[in-house]
Amino acid sequence: MKKYYTTIGLEIHAELKTATKMFCSCKNNPDEEKPNVNICPVCMAHPGTLPVANKKAIENVIKVGLAIDANIADFSEFDRKNYFYPDIPKGYQISQYKYPIVSGGKLAGLDITRIHLEEDTATSKHLSAQAGDKGDYSLVDYNRAGVPLMELVTEAHTFENPEDAAKAASVFAKEYQLLLWYLGVSEANMEKGEMRVEANVSISPDKDKKWNAYVEVKNLNSFKSVEKAIKYEVERMIELFEEGKESEIVKETRGWDETKQKTISQRKKESSQDYRYFPDPDLPKMKLHEAFGGPNFEEMKKNLPETPAQKRARYKNDYGIKDEDIEVYINDIELGKFFENVAKELSENKDIIKIASNYITSDFIGLKKNNSEAKLPSPFNFAELATLIFENKISSRAGKDILAMIVVNNESPLKIATEKDLLQKNDTGALTEIAQKIIDANEKVVADYKAGKEAALMSLVGQMMKETKGSANPQVAKQLLIDLLK
Ligand code: ZN
Ligand code: MN
Repeated sequence: MKKYYTTIGLEIHAELKTATKMFCSCKNNPDEEKPNVNICPVCMAHPGTLPVANKKAIENVIKVGLAIDANIADFSEFDRKNYFYPDIPKGYQISQYKYPIVSGGKLAGLDITRIHLEEDTATSKHLSAQAGDKGDYSLVDYNRAGVPLMELVTEAHTFENPEDAAKAASVFAKEYQLLLWYLGVSEANMEKGEMRVEANVSISPDKDKKWNAYVEVKNLNSFKSVEKAIKYEVERMIELFEEGKESEIVKETRGWDETKQKTISQRKKESSQDYRYFPDPDLPKMKLHEAFGGPNFEEMKKNLPETPAQKRARYKNDYGIKDEDIEVYINDIELGKFFENVAKELSENKDIIKIASNYITSDFIGLKKNNSEAKLPSPFNFAELATLIFENKISSRAGKDILAMIVVNNESPLKIATEKDLLQKNDTGALTEIAQKIIDANEKVVADYKAGKEAALMSLVGQMMKETKGSANPQVAKQLLIDLLK
């Protein structure tokens, strides 16, 4: 079989989290369950109504652009994208064509072409006929019609194999979702359709000849399905290529069917001419730099929340913890805050912080999986626990046991260790006595050790641990025995 290169480009729509819709003052509430309540003459396209652009939504798009080091247009405008469908009451969607708000920029290894702002459509429900009904029918809910929708388009990127392409796509989508969360501009929940990923996929046996006919894959409502759909689509195309049916690979839209685990042709793709884009005469042209504080957006930049990339770098630099731990905190913002508070209690002592982080990302998360009652203790108590472990005052076994208690009662680990007699006996005075007792009682083992059997020593250490109910520090115990047996 020939080698095929995979080229992908992504288009991601994200609903913006604003109080009101894009061009009217209707509530933007994605959780509204009652259909057709957040509607008005503007978003229902009644004659004589005029749209007014939502400044907050424009600001949110600029924020995303600033966060990815993109170009923010000085001049921008809205265009009409004309087509008919029941979910678009005006007969056109207000979108942006020639002058997107954002162009350029980079995220998670992919170059970004543009980010523009438009309005969402209504949601349609296609239902099958039930007893007594005349036939199959559709219902349209206009609550979503006119909700601000941000569309990002990446450049086309070519990969050596479909796996790399699929991985790059899902990594990008994940990072973009995180960025939108961190900036507070979108909930970006894929299952709820607040973030919708589409992948343009094409293959070529020739690395430089690409993008001849690409397929746009839709209905990707998880990062997993992004990966699976791209891989599936590439395989489908390769098969056609190999069978000499290259001409059957056409520019079309295909939907990912999660239950069948395959893509299904939906429609042959329109080209942009078909939409007859033209500037919307109802909306004023925008001078963005002027409207949002000068050519460099200094004020906005200064107030921009920390991005996931910045947080990764800060965690690595300030705490020196493992990359896996950092990713846990990047994805679980609350847990990240807790970790930072624990680190503060430990006055930036990196050795103890690493232990604390270990106990948070493995033990605490593990406990939480098995016990829904488990809650984060106070950062102070968690820091105390990490310190006891670091200073060898308790064994790691005791550390885990105490953690299981403090996630329920948030008590002081030192207090628990004292009460339950879990403090390791490091003081050689008391331990010497016990060690001597063990030596006296185990003549045979001692003889073995003196004859060169290393394992005999560990048997003695084991007996000391037993005698002290595990509270002896094994290192100290071992050293004591060695000294006594010299
Ligand atoms: Zn409205
Ligand atoms: Mn769009």
